[in-house]
Amino acid sequence: MSTENLLAKMTAHGIQISGEGFGGKVDISCTDVAAACAGMREPVYMLMLLKFCADKAAAKPMQIYIAQLMHKENPAMPLARCMDLALVVLVQEVGGYICKTCDGTGRARYAVCRGCKGSGKADISQRERARLVGIDESTYRRSYAKLVEAWAAQAGQWESEGLRHVWRQCRGAA
Ligand SMILES: [Zn+2]
Repeated sequence: MSTENLLAKMTAHGIQISGEGFGGKVDISCTDVAAACAGMREPVYMLMLLKFCADKAAAKPMQIYIAQLMHKENPAMPLARCMDLALVVLVQEVGGYICKTCDGTGRARYAVCRGCKGSGKADISQRERARLVGIDESTYRRSYAKLVEAWAAQAGQWESEGLRHVWRQCRGAA
């Protein structure tokens, strides 16, 4: 399991950062996260607010941010379609579903959970993704699945960056 996954043990609308391997455990409130977010670059900041502060106002700007980058890389793809795909990325990355095998911890039976490979998250089905975009599943799989995966991975990296930042701040304050 990656350091970031290890650090992040999320509760519904907040964050609990468990510093296994870092010597300690810190319970961090949304206010702490928001305060610690100062100085983060834009996508990281938005994602942290959205994910850990349940700041719904951050959802739209985040969606637009991803959609615009997507559109820039794929100019042939209409911006409206990019918006729909960006939504799928956010639902997967932010909403997600908690892995039932490990209850979101990423670990089961003292080992990395096999159900989610340690991420603690369960994937949203391809059919659900297609429905969010408003197209049929085979079109989604053929044309967009890879793209959405790549962007979800990108969002995951932003999250890791944000968590490392928060962790450093909270360690510093303790
Ligand atoms: Zn799992």
